[in-house]
Amino acid sequence: MPLTHDQQVAVSQYLKNTASPPQCPVCGASNLRVQPDLVQLPSHDAADGHRPVVEVECQYCGYLLHFSPGVMGLVLDEESKEDAP
Ligand SMILES: [Zn+2]
Repeated sequence: MPLTHDQQVAVSQYLKNTASPPQCPVCGASNLRVQPDLVQLPSHDAADGHRPVVEVECQYCGYLLHFSPGVMGLVLDEESKEDAP
């Protein structure tokens, strides 16, 4: 499921507001990039067996960070339709 551009901006803004600056926990680099697609992690707790997470990639070492969309206040559209302007 892809994130809309607005959602990617919202994630980026959330990270800037919550961690200043957001840094990779492995290498300490701060050039992190929000990935355009949600990742579906297997989860025994979720009703459909999957838990969507926002993926952020460290552009220096490649470490992948996963964030809860709910905590970040993202409203996910289950049908993942592209919004018309
Ligand atoms: Zn890194």
